[in-house]
Amino acid sequence: MSVTAIKGMNDVLPGEVETWQFLEKSAREVFGFHGFSEIRTPIAEKTELFCRSIGETTDIVEKEMYTFSDKSENSLTLRPEGTAPVMRAFIQNRLHTLDPVSKLYYMGPMFRYERPQKGRYRQFHQIGVEVIGVEDARIDAQVLAMLHQYFNHIGITAVSLQINSLGCPECRPGYRQQLIAYLESRLDVLCADCQRRYQTNPLRVLDCKAKGCQEATVDAPSVIEHLCSPCNDHFAQVKEYLQALQIPFTVNSRMVRGLDYYVRTTFELVTDQLGSQNAVAAGGRYDGLVESLGGPALPGIGFAIGLERLVLMKGEQRITPPEPQLFIATIGAEAVERAFVLMSQLQLAGVRVEMDYLGKSLKAQMRRANKLKAAFTLVLGEEELESGEAQLKNMSDSSQSLVSLGSLVESFAEKNL
Ligand code: ATP
Ligand code: MG
Repeated sequence: MSVTAIKGMNDVLPGEVETWQFLEKSAREVFGFHGFSEIRTPIAEKTELFCRSIGETTDIVEKEMYTFSDKSENSLTLRPEGTAPVMRAFIQNRLHTLDPVSKLYYMGPMFRYERPQKGRYRQFHQIGVEVIGVEDARIDAQVLAMLHQYFNHIGITAVSLQINSLGCPECRPGYRQQLIAYLESRLDVLCADCQRRYQTNPLRVLDCKAKGCQEATVDAPSVIEHLCSPCNDHFAQVKEYLQALQIPFTVNSRMVRGLDYYVRTTFELVTDQLGSQNAVAAGGRYDGLVESLGGPALPGIGFAIGLERLVLMKGEQRITPPEPQLFIATIGAEAVERAFVLMSQLQLAGVRVEMDYLGKSLKAQMRRANKLKAAFTLVLGEEELESGEAQLKNMSDSSQSLVSLGSLVESFAEKNL
């Protein structure tokens, strides 16, 4: 039996990869306008990086990490998300000494051992951004405006922005205690997962998909009603700046994020087009993270977009690979030689050209030209080689024009074909 790919890890094939390229290129463009630079970190990190940043009691660290020992018994983990590696790189390379504000973006594969289903895979791809060094609520709004602009740019508008504030180490512990007390009184209706985690990670219960948990927490204490005054002011400013920038949003006080490092502003971009995998992007502020990983005490904020979910949403609007501008069909060995050189010259000049490599009949070659949707075809036979001229056929209206083989490159350049 032939070897197949690992469950939950997918190939991206021609025909689909063009959509990926478009989404990636658009991110580079839009983020570039906002002054962001790309950062690339390794696929694997020391396991402790993720335990220390994401949090021991989160779904990711508890059950989703691809962790293994290398041959020297070091515990390594395939990155489940991008923020921790970027912070590690930021600290290690002392990026704050180059510029007090770092605006970084990344794109690439992430790994989580989850149950594969539509929109949820074990290797998936994220495009993410991080801003380190700014506490001002304007940056929260700018990052969200950039996310909004990106979605406009790629033509996905069926998404809505939900925001929340999770408070800070000053106000969250008090809220957390109240929530635990509330949950304790309803323990019997919570799902097994939440019964287990309501003390270690009570906020997660608010986010649980189980019907019992959702019903039991309808009137749970709300995190935004328990913010300390600096957090309250910060959240009010974020909303104000979003309004000033005309970015539509709703406040969802039940939205918690699955990673421990978030404080204050958190957000998700959700859609109703993908069933239960409804988040296409998510992020928030992580003000204590850099310091907790051994770096300077700098605030940060970022988001990650799930690329597979964007590709699913693009669906019918797929971008197709560019068609050849010319197919050179040949009759006889000499014509093949000439066509081979002509093709290379045209390609050097930036023209997309195809020809036959398999010694096929003229009929079969023309069938392939049609299948590839070549814009023009040129048939090279004995006669054409002798006269140095050939008929260039426009495949859309079947019109023909005589071109000189010696100036084929120029005619393509001139006519802008
Ligand atoms: P979900 O609630 O769907 O599990 P999450 O909160 O775990 O998402 P984040 O860690 O915030 O997700 O990652 C940001 C984005 O990455 C998500 O909004 C989603 O679009 C995408 N994403 C996360 N996990 C997966 C996965 N296993 N497969 C595909 N995309 C994913
Ligand atoms: Mg998840």
